[in-house]
Amino acid sequence: MKRYTEIRDQTCQGIGCNRKATHSEIDHTVPWNRGGPTAVGNLVHLCKACHRLKHQSSFSTRQTPTGALTWTSPGGKIYTHEPANPIGSPTPAAPARPPLPPSTGRADPPPF
Ligand SMILES: [Zn+2]
Repeated sequence: MKRYTEIRDQTCQGIGCNRKATHSEIDHTVPWNRGGPTAVGNLVHLCKACHRLKHQSSFSTRQTPTGALTWTSPGGKIYTHEPANPIGSPTPAAPARPPLPPSTGRADPPPF
């Protein structure tokens, strides 16, 4: 996930900020302790200063599936930072094994 978001974001997703993603921290847009998943659709790079701004001010943020981060200022002004490579979330992996056939209602034979 770290590498994926680095390729997508390239830079900090703060308002007008261009610090390299490799020198930034990864932030949960919806906080983990409020049910935000640890998934690329909820993670963005923020440098230390922008990360602090997000958590210690009245700015709020929203993230699109392509990684764009929209900031809303305390006064209601909206800023959107598009990622360098707006790619969506990776397709989920296929199930490891096929689903079981429907039950016939009879007891299955012992496995040995
Ligand atoms: Zn920044």
